[in-house]
Amino acid sequence: MARLVQKFGGTSVRDAEHIQRVAKIVHDAARGGKEIVVVVSAMGHTTDELINLAESVNDLPDPRELDMLLSTGEQVSISLVAMALQKLGLKARSFTGAQAGILTDETHTFARIKTVQPSRVETSLRRGEIAVVAGFQGMTRTSDITTLGRGGSDTTAVALAASLKAECCDIYTDVNGVYTTDPRCYGQARRLHTISYEEMLELASLGAQVLNARSVELALRQKVPIRLRSTFEPGDTGTLVTLRELSPDYQICGVALDTNRVSFRLSLPRDFSVKEPSLDDGKPNHYNVRAQRVVEELCNLGLSRDHVNLRTDGDSICEIEFNCEKRLSREAREVLLEFFPQNNGTLLRVDSDVARISIVGVGARERHQRGDMINALRQASIPVAMVTTSNISVSAVVPAKYKDDAVKQLHETFCNGHNFADAQAAT
Ligand code: ADP
Ligand code: ASP
Ligand code: MG
Repeated sequence: MARLVQKFGGTSVRDAEHIQRVAKIVHDAARGGKEIVVVVSAMGHTTDELINLAESVNDLPDPRELDMLLSTGEQVSISLVAMALQKLGLKARSFTGAQAGILTDETHTFARIKTVQPSRVETSLRRGEIAVVAGFQGMTRTSDITTLGRGGSDTTAVALAASLKAECCDIYTDVNGVYTTDPRCYGQARRLHTISYEEMLELASLGAQVLNARSVELALRQKVPIRLRSTFEPGDTGTLVTLRELSPDYQICGVALDTNRVSFRLSLPRDFSVKEPSLDDGKPNHYNVRAQRVVEELCNLGLSRDHVNLRTDGDSICEIEFNCEKRLSREAREVLLEFFPQNNGTLLRVDSDVARISIVGVGARERHQRGDMINALRQASIPVAMVTTSNISVSAVVPAKYKDDAVKQLHETFCNGHNFADAQAAT
């Protein structure tokens, strides 16, 4: 029998009335003769509230204990969704991440799924039940509860869809598809009928929270089709995330905004050191060698090498510039200070009042796009601090107060007109 995974996010299960709406959607899909696995997030803003609660007790909560706390959010919603399904006359059974066989590494608060062993879910489906699984959580091999990082329920859903060989993973949320940019921030955003895995992964990695980046990475690897659709318009099939061959070849498919970043700029005095590594403090002395070590350590933290700029003055490094997620800023700062201790002449500027804005699409490979993007931002009098490129994107850091202007300007420049003939206007 065909299998379908349906995932519902926090706004979709925010109260009893919404949970009943979700149960109705699941009920209709089950009537179509499919085996259904439902994955749910915590209700509404529960996860934020639990984090605030933890920080009110201890401003640096132990990650293991934080995971123990945060996982309770999803445990509330699975039981309520199972009850709502039973009320509609369906057989349903809830499972925590551990019970569903979601096995992860030990990285508390940002764990990676290593394997899925869903034997209990399989048994439940064979009995004709709807399996309701807690998103965002798993278990280490030593039976500790882990969580998968914010937005991680999407990853649970895709991992289960791959492991159970589901025909599709439907991600239900509060918008009716993937748009050229966040439709809540910019009313002229246009909905995409389809988007390739690669472009969706880039959009998500660069801040479009509509899908969790790791879930797209997994879907790409395991070839799981994802449909991004709305809980509030269940008749609408939303946006299909699929292979590039099946999706239109947009030049630029969208603009991503990420306000959850901190930018770092370390300016160095002239390097008069001998151009040989010195071992006086156990570390290589020459700036160029130290800078390479900094880049390696930053990559170990999860930053992309493409997103660290090293500027040289003659043949020696004079500036290291990058931006990173806020959750990594303390460690990133420690890496910089380990290799370049603050002394006369070094100047470290850290700014969290910034936004990273990016254009994404196969067209970004063309060399002129970088210049076109900088020009477009300058034309709107938006100061551009740091420009980086990847295979299919160009990103710039701008002061946070210009974020809305920057989205509007880049959307008008890159996402309107002939290169968007196949997109449909936002409704
Ligand atoms: P859920 O709780 O259902 O997982 P999220 O809040 O994680 O929902 O993701 C949905 C939100 O993503 C939307 O409300 C929208 O504001 C935002 N979003 C950001 N970028 C985009 C985009 N390109 N297309 C659609 N929605 C986007
Ligand atoms: N409840 C978790 C969060 O708020 C996971 C999720 O919603 O996907 O991040
Ligand atoms: Mg989400």
